Amino acid sequence: MKHELPKLPYDFAALEPHISRETFEFHYGKHHQAYVTNLNNLLPGSKFENADLETIVREADGGIFNNGAQVWNHTFYFMQFSPTAASTPTGLLGEAINQTFGSFAEFKEQFAKAGATLFGSGWVWLVVNKDGKLEIVQESNAGNPLRRGSKPILTCDVWEHAYYLDYQNRRPDYLQSFWNVVDWKVIGQRF
Ligand code: MN
Repeated sequence: MKHELPKLPYDFAALEPHISRETFEFHYGKHHQAYVTNLNNLLPGSKFENADLETIVREADGGIFNNGAQVWNHTFYFMQFSPTAASTPTGLLGEAINQTFGSFAEFKEQFAKAGATLFGSGWVWLVVNKDGKLEIVQESNAGNPLRRGSKPILTCDVWEHAYYLDYQNRRPDYLQSFWNVVDWKVIGQRF
């Protein structure tokens, strides 16, 4: 099957000043698109030719995994943002965050620390692990927690291409700004 770049539910400039139009032009328009194009070029003749994207993320290796997981990860990342984002988790997710991490502020601090200390390129995730508990995990490169049986509910892309145009080398500043655009209504629906 042919994979496609998803349409964004907001304009490229909608998340400024936190994430700029220019970052969207490159990160979504070039990088995310390239993963989609590469995946579609690799699939014909492979055993994943007719697989859905989640199956590719769970089971593939090599270039098909790398590009397929990057398509999945970027779609998950871009779809969690909104220019009118709900700024705090409520309901069951809010309670689970308080119970697991002590408070929402403490959770944000631990998540940002995991993002800042991930060496090289990768993704930091909030997941529900196999034991049904919330957990913050780091994944290198195209890594995705679905492969270890966890359910992803939030992610931050810490590849340099995600923040370099807006924050240069200041990954911690990007991770702080990230909270201004994460829509906790969306995250709550994933929980
Ligand atoms: Mn990226």
